[in-house]
Amino acid sequence: MPARYDLHTHSVHSDGTTTPAEIAAEAASIGLAGFALTDHDTVEGWNEARASAAALGIDFLPGMEVTTKHDWRSTHLLAYGIEPDAPELTRALERVRESRHGRAREMVARLAADFNIDWATVIEGGEDRTLGRPHIADALVDAGYYPDRGAAFDDVLHPRSKYYVPTYAIETVEAIGMVRDAGGVPVLAHPAAGRMTRPVDHSALQAFVAAGLWGIELDHPENRDAWLPELREFAVAHRLHVTGASDYHGAGKKNVLGERTSTLDTWDAIRALAAVKE
Ligand code: AMP
Ligand code: FE
Ligand code: FE
Ligand code: ZN
Repeated sequence: MPARYDLHTHSVHSDGTTTPAEIAAEAASIGLAGFALTDHDTVEGWNEARASAAALGIDFLPGMEVTTKHDWRSTHLLAYGIEPDAPELTRALERVRESRHGRAREMVARLAADFNIDWATVIEGGEDRTLGRPHIADALVDAGYYPDRGAAFDDVLHPRSKYYVPTYAIETVEAIGMVRDAGGVPVLAHPAAGRMTRPVDHSALQAFVAAGLWGIELDHPENRDAWLPELREFAVAHRLHVTGASDYHGAGKKNVLGERTSTLDTWDAIRALAAVKE
């Protein structure tokens, strides 16, 4: 079988449920040639993932999934091989994480009026993680209100719920520039995710390409098949690289590590451009 690389995974440093070392061990055990760690808005897990991958004899690529928005739409931007202390990106990410923290606190305060949950439980896994609705979901699940994260997302954590609070996101076009300036390789994550009412549209994609977008994650378990042919055509026309990855979150989501992967060619092409290659 040709070498397979999973380019999108989350650990306990954001909203995954396994450690970077556990992801590396699982990647090795299922026969992946390598993986990228792409926690939301943080580089915290890189060192552990790098050391574990090296010990296991598999490849590692440092990455991140940046919280961005374009017009009304929440858009996730994968960034591979960035310099971890690039000033502009680092400042923007600090703002994102701070806003996430305040927003989670506010959502928990609203929920605590009607549900028996508190802040201490939500931050049990560590207050320095990139906090998100999944951590609030876990507290609600632990308290017995929902069977899993997904059920909480469909109800009280939904953007239309009265408990929902928005969080700061970087403009996608600006984030692409910051990632490029940081020596990184920007890839648009899950542009046809089924939970949205439509895929990312052409005018947005054109703006992203003009800003320096390198690739687009078309092979992702949550992309809706019906929306893909048009996006594939766009990718070919604009010479965007196409990536595949699982978006693994441990037990936090149904996504299975390695269920979608990228080829060695894609892996090498990213590493050829990236400032930090391993
Ligand atoms: P937030 O960043 O706080 O707005 O929460 C969004 C995050 O929650 C995303 O990174 C997803 O990985 C996760 N998420 C979204 N929907 C679900 C779901 N139905 N089940 C589990 N996790 C989800
Ligand atoms: Fe996530
Ligand atoms: Fe995402
Ligand atoms: Zn993700």
